[in-house]
Amino acid sequence: MPRLLLLLPNQTYRAEAFLNAAARLGVEVVVATDQQSTLEQQRPGALVTLDFRDSEQTARSVRSFSRKYPIDAVVGVDDDTTIAAAAIAGALRLPQNSMESVRAAGNKAEMRRIWKNAGLPVPAFEVLSLKDPPHDLAKKASYPCVLKPLMLSASRGVIRANNESEFSRAFERIKSLLQREDVRAKSGDTSGQILVEQFIPGQEVAVEALLNKGQLNLLAIFDKPDPLSGPYFEETIYVTPSRLTPALQREVAVCSGDAARALGLCHGPVHAELRLNGNDPWLLEVAPRSIGGLCARTLRFGAGIPLEELILKHALGMEIETWERERPAAGVMMIPIPRAGVLKEIHGLDQARAVADIEEITITSHLGMELEPLPEGSRYLGFIFSRADTPERAEAALREAHQCLEFVIDGNN
Ligand code: ADP
Repeated sequence: MPRLLLLLPNQTYRAEAFLNAAARLGVEVVVATDQQSTLEQQRPGALVTLDFRDSEQTARSVRSFSRKYPIDAVVGVDDDTTIAAAAIAGALRLPQNSMESVRAAGNKAEMRRIWKNAGLPVPAFEVLSLKDPPHDLAKKASYPCVLKPLMLSASRGVIRANNESEFSRAFERIKSLLQREDVRAKSGDTSGQILVEQFIPGQEVAVEALLNKGQLNLLAIFDKPDPLSGPYFEETIYVTPSRLTPALQREVAVCSGDAARALGLCHGPVHAELRLNGNDPWLLEVAPRSIGGLCARTLRFGAGIPLEELILKHALGMEIETWERERPAAGVMMIPIPRAGVLKEIHGLDQARAVADIEEITITSHLGMELEPLPEGSRYLGFIFSRADTPERAEAALREAHQCLEFVIDGNN
């Protein structure tokens, strides 16, 4: 029986889906987490604790672990594990993306430099030091622009500025976000920098794909029908199949494949975000991981195979019968946190679940939880899922269900 090492950060939304997929495939799973479990001693060979941020130490630990329990594949499920997964695979000589490629994809400035040098369409950008006075930098910037940290994800700290005073405010806000201890740890030696780039207007799409020997197998293109014009860029609705013309969809897929290859990525899932300005795709990001949060629940292939199963089969070198997404349209809404405060009550869930074409609503925040909205926060209240005959209906169902929900935060409405 093949043995799979799954890197599951403590905070991940994806544990259940990947563990279920592994169980369906009948493979033996070793779960690696970043927080020690009291069960570890009782389950040697099934549970390990790794510091995903220390990729060298992680690779050493897994190499010694694998002498007793040989590992056939390693899969990191989130952004936080991509570098560790590459380091482990390198140490065990398993097929994976190189460390350099994964490092480049995790640093927005490096990613842009590589794409620019490869002649790919990226917004004009500049890296600024947090030590410099923002009002001087603001004078030199072109507007509108977007300011962002170099190594965060989920739109954390991404802020649009239309003029000098907005620039200075955004700069200070990102600066204090980057001073938080957990954020500093994620940002490493980029925590003293900010990326400023040209704002690209236009519709945004997300691409889900699997790279096989550098070849991009397109799994889905999601439209993001809510306008993402700032000042913060909250992800809300994703709907697939895309309503872009087939020609534009081909361009989006080709551009995503070129962008992944330029970074040196060649193996496993990729998630890309692009904007369409007129008919031209512009690259915002390519990450060597699958779609985040619980959004993968929208994707089923062939006779209902979930995305995680496809990813595990690919990692284990098993045959994949079909890459074809199921026919019906599917949508997900990441329920945004409207304001900071303590979540006190949730109303309207039954009504929202009863809306036609709604498949499921999962609330991932719990009562009593301290909520933090964008641009500092990185979580959602929950997820609404729809499946319908057409993308229009899938989208409408999400909006109707969301309207039924009421979240009481801090006792105020
Ligand atoms: P993250 O990796 O944290 O999600 P991104 O760089 O992908 O950060 O930015 C998050 C979102 O902000 C994007 O999906 C997009 O909506 C918006 N955004 C970021 N950069 C730009 C830009 N240059 N022009 C227009 N929108 C942008």
